[in-house]
Amino acid sequence: MISRRTLLKQFSVLPLVGALFNKGSLITNDLRAQVLRRDYFKELGMRTFINAAGTYTALTGSLMEPEVIEAIKYASNEYVNLDELQDKVGEQIAAMLHCEAATVTAGAASAITLGTAGILTGLDEDKVIQLPDLTGMKSEVIIQKQHRITYDHAIRNCGVRLVEVETRKDLEAAINEKTAMMWFLNANNYVGHIRDEEFVEIGKKYGIPTFNDCAADVPPVENLWKYTDMGFDLVTFSGGKGLLGPQSAGLLLGKKEYIQAARLHAPPRGNTIGRGMKVNKEEILGMLVALEIYLEKDHESEWKNWESQIKLISDAASSVKGVKTEIHVPDVANHVPSLRISWDQDKVKITTEEVREKLRKGHPSIETVGGEESVDITTWMMLPGQERIVASRVREILENARDS
Ligand SMILES: *Cc1c(COP(=O)(O)O)cnc(C)c1O
Repeated sequence: MISRRTLLKQFSVLPLVGALFNKGSLITNDLRAQVLRRDYFKELGMRTFINAAGTYTALTGSLMEPEVIEAIKYASNEYVNLDELQDKVGEQIAAMLHCEAATVTAGAASAITLGTAGILTGLDEDKVIQLPDLTGMKSEVIIQKQHRITYDHAIRNCGVRLVEVETRKDLEAAINEKTAMMWFLNANNYVGHIRDEEFVEIGKKYGIPTFNDCAADVPPVENLWKYTDMGFDLVTFSGGKGLLGPQSAGLLLGKKEYIQAARLHAPPRGNTIGRGMKVNKEEILGMLVALEIYLEKDHESEWKNWESQIKLISDAASSVKGVKTEIHVPDVANHVPSLRISWDQDKVKITTEEVREKLRKGHPSIETVGGEESVDITTWMMLPGQERIVASRVREILENARDS
């Protein structure tokens, strides 16, 4: 790794740059900053890449808009009271999304733990300290079998037992005096037997709070209020997926009593299950500004832009004989124009994994997703213009495999 000092030393041997830093030079701070701009990832020996995959934590999520970065920089120069900032920002977000209350969390997974904890303890501060020991508290969370995914660990963090059900009949039979909450995974709305509205209706019928995980469910923008309007008591969204906010931020929205209770589990309070889920002023303000920008944006023209980018890559890939492309939009979760590229491996002699590896190893490097059947691409996490690079690399790799 090259240290900053070595870098400066290297700069100073260049006569021009050396002259720039001499006393009395007319160089502006701006230019000086540009000359000094460090390529940190390069210093660390890291590869950066075009993100043709989508919003993945492993690929560091999304990129924030300049206004969000400005808000983060602004916040980093001042001290404020953390609780007061959460209060004020929460009020603003709730007003923007017309829900009762809101708070910024350290991502959707954090919102799931904090929200569940809030539902379990209410405003009882002894119970807050007691978690994850549930003595004297409700201890079961009902979940549809088809809604189970890795992220439900965030519910189990609170010490509860997940009770799996499939049908409405199962669900109603599973409800008892230990039932604390009913859990819903929005992405699997159409996979489970019980759909969103019916789920809420059952929750209300038995007086059990319902929580909907919508982490990856903008766009469409209306989802930001659709599910609180529908009657879910708590709803969460990731801050760093479609909202393009800080990657370590998320939203917890819903009923005031549960948001207040969830806040009792969050920093600055220390004797809590959520102490490790800190969001500081930079992410809180960044999240607010990201949401403002997201709500103001021209969603229709953004959508058209994604469509034309996807079409460009699709046309490039399918110009190679034997290659098939399919453009689709997932119903829920990552609801954006998406491309599936597949080919007859007798004609184009390369596997999907090999294509993805070639894209990854090229310059610039390109990350995609997919399985044995296809290479899958979205453009919503790319910077403008990168779709052309992706289109030509994909065509080149497939064309070369055809020739050989
Ligand atoms: C991404 C995701 C999460 C986790 O969100 P973070 O903001 O990264 O904590 C939880 N649930 C679902 C369904 C997700 O897609």
